Amino acid sequence: MAQTASAMLRDIRQQIVGLDVQIPLLNGSTCQAINFDNAASTPALRSVLDTVTTFMSWYSSVHRGAGFKSRVATQAYEDAREVVGQLLGARGDQHVVIFGKNTTEAINKLARRIAFRPSDVVLSSLMEHHSNDLPWRGVATVAHIHVDALGHLDEDHFAALLHQYAGRVRLVAISGGSNVTGAIAPIHRLAELSHASGAEIFVDCAQLAPHRAIDIGALDDPAHLDYVALSGHKVYAPFGSGALIGRRATFAQGTPEYIGGGTVEIVTPTEVTWAAPPDRDEAGSPNVVGAVALAAALEALDSIDMDLIAAHEAELTTHALRRLAEVPGLRLYGDGDPQRAGTRLGVIPFTLAKVPHVLVAAILSAEFGIAVRNGSFCAQPYLSQLLGISAAELARAHAELQAGDRHNLPGLVRVSFGMYNTIAEVDTLVAALDCIARGDYRGEYVQNYVTGDYQPKGWNPDLGGYFRITANERSGAAC
Ligand code: PMP
Repeated sequence: MAQTASAMLRDIRQQIVGLDVQIPLLNGSTCQAINFDNAASTPALRSVLDTVTTFMSWYSSVHRGAGFKSRVATQAYEDAREVVGQLLGARGDQHVVIFGKNTTEAINKLARRIAFRPSDVVLSSLMEHHSNDLPWRGVATVAHIHVDALGHLDEDHFAALLHQYAGRVRLVAISGGSNVTGAIAPIHRLAELSHASGAEIFVDCAQLAPHRAIDIGALDDPAHLDYVALSGHKVYAPFGSGALIGRRATFAQGTPEYIGGGTVEIVTPTEVTWAAPPDRDEAGSPNVVGAVALAAALEALDSIDMDLIAAHEAELTTHALRRLAEVPGLRLYGDGDPQRAGTRLGVIPFTLAKVPHVLVAAILSAEFGIAVRNGSFCAQPYLSQLLGISAAELARAHAELQAGDRHNLPGLVRVSFGMYNTIAEVDTLVAALDCIARGDYRGEYVQNYVTGDYQPKGWNPDLGGYFRITANERSGAAC
């Protein structure tokens, strides 16, 4: 019988840092944590950590350092650029890879580097993370593509907006995969339509990159992507780096949004000649270690095989959707059909009847050692759509927020899978949710109205006892 992807990926857990540590539970025991918060950040891959450790002996000042180690480190930094570009299908003569700290920074950069005209329109969507919505609002007129009841992009509305703003749409900015519902957008189809109407397309790959191969494509391919961005901390490389990959020509003109050392060719007291891409857009000393880590991570994912990762995560998602539907009072949001699990990411949002999302997350953590995320996931317009929040309810929530009261904010619970999660972990989650749904948990949870968080009464684990930067007690004097 053919092996399933999950069986083939069984050993992947050995390659993830920190899965074996014990965490405390409310009942006084300890357990191995289950991490279902991968859409926020993934743990590190051991091979990435090993590459970083090896590199540290060679780490030195990059660019223009005359020392031998500087030359090695500079080459490593530029090799990292090459690797990231190649793995995303970039062409050296057409594209540039700009390292930065994360997807949010990359999008803000792009928003400032595209030479928008006052009449320009950016088509974003109602499923976007705030990071792929707010930066555009400051530089162009933004129109939001609608989503349907399952949270999928409404392609008819996209076509209607292209028509409505014909000749004015400069950019389509959409996420490749949703951090709330795991919905995957048909990015290359949207790219063709965007290009046919004279627009470029940016794809926020923060969520797609850990789960699917991405090919930016040659500029003469009508389905190419003009710009993509991703974050290292979501692809098993949490070393503070991210990348923006896109049309070289866009970054060969204009003034970068951050200026100073590294961005220039010639400076006189009155004049500046900017450096060629990518230097023009990498102000100050770069995060060399982060760039090396990001490249190592993308290489590792590629050699594990993105199709295998996608197939394994689809198995997890199929199983989870089936089993979660059995939990009394559990309501799934987005596309809950297990048969379509292969067409989306393993990001599953839900609510539990009568138990607030914040409380579900707190109990899962304190009593079952399961890390999930809850709230609105930096995607408030999308949440409002999915939850069907009325204007009056929204106004009430906003008024409460402004008054500093977060005790009753709308939201969802989200589990999100990484390539190392297992079917057994999903079963543990389902059993835990079953207990919570039946009121079968031991803690008495008290809510802080200012933060909205719940804490079990009388349980205050000493976090510093698990990790502390230094064991020395500080005198308390300001330094
Ligand atoms: N876009 C999406 C779809 C995301 O999920 C996230 C992170 N949750 C971001 C953008 C922002 O990523 P970062 O915080 O790494 O800048």
